[in-house]
Amino acid sequence: MSTAEHTLVLDPITCEGRGLCHLAAPELIELDEWGYPLLPGAGLRATVHHADRPAARAAVDSCPVLALHLERQRQSKTTPL
Ligand code: SF4
Repeated sequence: MSTAEHTLVLDPITCEGRGLCHLAAPELIELDEWGYPLLPGAGLRATVHHADRPAARAAVDSCPVLALHLERQRQSKTTPL
């Protein structure tokens, strides 16, 4: 099993704000006052750690208009100082 981190990406143009992703993964996605999703950090991209990947996958799978997707992050070849 891969332990690579992923990025959850929201397409705000496609999103219709019905909140199904929040229902599928309330621990990961909140809704704003108009019912649109707020990813962790409130941006359009959020790093998803290994433990949260099932919730992120559930959110992606719940979206009827494919406004969410998961990207696998590239492994850094640099070594921290
Ligand atoms: S399920 Fe999809 S369309 Fe609905 S709020 Fe979430 S991202 Fe937007």
